Order: sequence, then C-alpha cells, then structure tokens
Amino acid sequence: MSEVKIKKAFVDLHNFLAENKQKKISTVFETLLNMMTAHPGGGGGGESIVIRDAEENVVAIFCFYHKRWEMVTDIAYGTKASSKSGLYNMCKEGNSLYTKQNAEAKKASAGILARLQDPESLVTIEDIPVIQAEIEKERTVIVATSKPEHSYATRAEVFQAMGVPDPNAIEVAEESHY
Ligand SMILES: [Zn+2]
Repeated sequence: MSEVKIKKAFVDLHNFLAENKQKKISTVFETLLNMMTAHPGGGGGGESIVIRDAEENVVAIFCFYHKRWEMVTDIAYGTKASSKSGLYNMCKEGNSLYTKQNAEAKKASAGILARLQDPESLVTIEDIPVIQAEIEKERTVIVATSKPEHSYATRAEVFQAMGVPDPNAIEVAEESHY
C-alpha cells in the first residue's frame, strides 16, 4: 500500500495498529472496536441548546443532528424529563436518522474483522484506517430536514421569524456607540 495521509481522528488507531502489526487481529480486536466505534452519550445524550421567548417558553432548538435551529411548534421533538428544556436535543426525524446511521457504522466496523479473516479478501490491517474513515464519513452524513421552511441556520434568523430583536444583536449595537 502506498503512503497514506492519516486523518487526525485516526492517528491513535493507526499508531495502535502499527505497534500491534505482528499480533493476530482477533487478540486486539476488542480494543480496536472500542477505538473505532462512536460512544452514545457523546452526542445524542447531551443537553439541548434552546431559544426561549419572553415567557420562557422554548421556541427553537439547535438540532444536534441537522445542525440547524428548528422551530418546536412546527418540527416534532420527543420529550425528555431529565433535560432542562424538557425536550430532546435533536428532532424526532434527526434522532431516527442518527440512531440508524450509528447502528450501520457499528455493524460495518464489526464487519471489518470478517473481511480481514476472509482468505478471499484483499483487505489487510493497514487498510483499516481507510475503511474506518469511509464508515465515519457515512455515519456523519446529514440528511437534510424534510421541513427546511421551519428551520434556520442562525439565531438571528430565529429572532427575525419570532418578530423580536435578537438580544445579542442589540448588545453589539449598543457597544458600537462609542
Ligand atoms: Zn432536526
């Protein structure tokens, strides 16, 4: 295999593989899988980022999946008692895609061992970071929301949609009087 530039996210994995080159894959696979798979809670389990109106009602949430501000009156969110907002940190649609993409990535990562052990396969241990990078790319794809008209790229647009001034924008304006 020719010289491969290792992505930052896979440097540890690559080093580990280089150090364990002579070992049987099955003896280090548990460690490998742990290094390669996404750990739930790092993402989906977090606190939601919200915009509230003057009455403290949650108006919009920054969707952890779609990476956009979504109006909770128009886009469905699951309830979560342990969250300060009472709602999930991503919309139902995004949550379903997030779960599906993570499950597929986990399955694909687990399948690497089978590919390595298959005598017909040309996959070698050096190929793992490249395969894993492909899996990671697939896992983090963002499928666009089916309701783009109810989501916004910036906080300012949410406040504009609410018909109230963005408190952050006012702060900046006041400071600029000097
Ligand atoms: Zn969403």
